[in-house]
Amino acid sequence: MENGWIDVSVSLHSGMVHWPDNPPVWIERTLSIERGDAANVSEISMGAHTGTHMDGPIHFVRGGKGLDEMPLTATIGRARVIEIQDPESIKPDELDLHGLQRGERVLFKTQNSAHHWPSEDFDEDFVYVSQEAARYLAELGIQTVGVDYLSVGGFRKDAEETHQALLEAGIWVIEGLDLSEVEPGEYELICLPVKIERSDGAPARAILGAI
Ligand SMILES: [Zn+2]
Repeated sequence: MENGWIDVSVSLHSGMVHWPDNPPVWIERTLSIERGDAANVSEISMGAHTGTHMDGPIHFVRGGKGLDEMPLTATIGRARVIEIQDPESIKPDELDLHGLQRGERVLFKTQNSAHHWPSEDFDEDFVYVSQEAARYLAELGIQTVGVDYLSVGGFRKDAEETHQALLEAGIWVIEGLDLSEVEPGEYELICLPVKIERSDGAPARAILGAI
């Protein structure tokens, strides 16, 4: 907490956890003051879906929009953090309890947040959005969905189906949030992905402010 803002992004570092078939994270200071260079300059190599990041529709939808076309209001404004009890996946029955409204921005705090996942190995059993819940969110006309692990869809199931249902419906997706310090409730969200042309994914800084 800093002046009422909570940083819900993870710190990027070499060798950190990433989706199994995505590129590894490598960050190296290629120019270094200590080694006699005039400045410190780092080189960064990683997949576009690393750490806290967003998915653009084109990630799973042929001809879909890139993240550079995202309306800024998708990720700036009121958002609700909802605590999910189900240890396996987010399902429509549990969502029903929360009275979600059209146009809402919703961030799901699951049991993923109880682990310090950014500093651990890849967890194949993370809590994900089931394809049924993804269709439920799409039908409701939810604007933005955020999750506390590297993917909205599961590792063993619902990876494609969940992404397709959300992205085809025009829902903007934030992944890799760290919600461990956040209580459920209403917040002001600011999350902006780096602007990359036609981007299927882009790293983002996300913060939540008290209201
Ligand atoms: Zn994704």
